[in-house]
Amino acid sequence: MEAAYEPKTLQEAIVHFSDQVNCLNYLVARRPEWANGVVCPTCGSDKVSFLQNQLRWQCSVHHPKRQFSVKVGTIFEESPIGLDKWLAAMWMILNCKNGISSCEIHRALGVTQKTAWFMLHRIRLAQQGKMGGKMGGNGGEVEVDETFIGQKARNMHKAKRAEKIQGRGAQGKEIVFGMMERGGHVRVMHVEKRTKKELQSAIREHVEAGAAIFSDELLSYDGLESDYEHSVINHAVEYVNGNVHTNGMENFWSLLKRGLHGTYISVEPFHLFRYLDEQAFRFNNRKLTDAERFDIGVREIVGKRLTYAELTGKLESSSEA
Ligand SMILES: [Zn+2]
Repeated sequence: MEAAYEPKTLQEAIVHFSDQVNCLNYLVARRPEWANGVVCPTCGSDKVSFLQNQLRWQCSVHHPKRQFSVKVGTIFEESPIGLDKWLAAMWMILNCKNGISSCEIHRALGVTQKTAWFMLHRIRLAQQGKMGGKMGGNGGEVEVDETFIGQKARNMHKAKRAEKIQGRGAQGKEIVFGMMERGGHVRVMHVEKRTKKELQSAIREHVEAGAAIFSDELLSYDGLESDYEHSVINHAVEYVNGNVHTNGMENFWSLLKRGLHGTYISVEPFHLFRYLDEQAFRFNNRKLTDAERFDIGVREIVGKRLTYAELTGKLESSSEA
């Protein structure tokens, strides 16, 4: 197959995707179910005709919803926003290291701030990483750590925080737990408490038994020795001892916080996991070019929908709907 043109910079992306046909071709090529040609999303028939004027398809079988656009079954479905703006917004979000605020999207693309906010959240949903298998297999090394998102804890030294706040989040602060395979991916989650039960069940779910685990001295990590090769760095004494450290996670936290406190004015706890997903996506794809990261991000939009009601908390959010 002939390699199609792909934009490499934000400027090229804006120019390329200002053409609706280019948007359509880019998206069609990234839908696995259309690898052998477009099929009807309702009945699965491949007898569909393309309506050139409307840039839509029509199924030859008679049933409701015969006509469909490339937005069908994606996070863009039923959105009145043009694909030119959607794809430009995606480029900015996926490739800007510290994240983009809804205010920036609003100003750059000329959509209302409310629309920009909704677009951002839909795009974040698409980036909810598919977790894949367990980390730390084949002798891998996994760092685990927790951090607080919130005003006071942020300014408090970590060891100090540990003695002040044992086993639960201090008031008004959200706890984020992270696991990182050295040289590989990070997984982060918003947790209720940092009790032994909460943290260790996450570790056992995500890390292969027998793996090397590195943590700080938090008591909640006690007992991991039964299933893992557990090394502890006591942050009250030192930050690194040979290969015993959690510097990978520490680096990720500083990236996360730069994004949260710089670009985003405030994060409501309800939405925190979406910001975590966004930052983890960029981190896990950090070695790629902008064009490659965008390609992967766009492939993730299929099969995911998010309504305004779900976003604003009126209903449980669902990525399977
Ligand atoms: Zn059909």
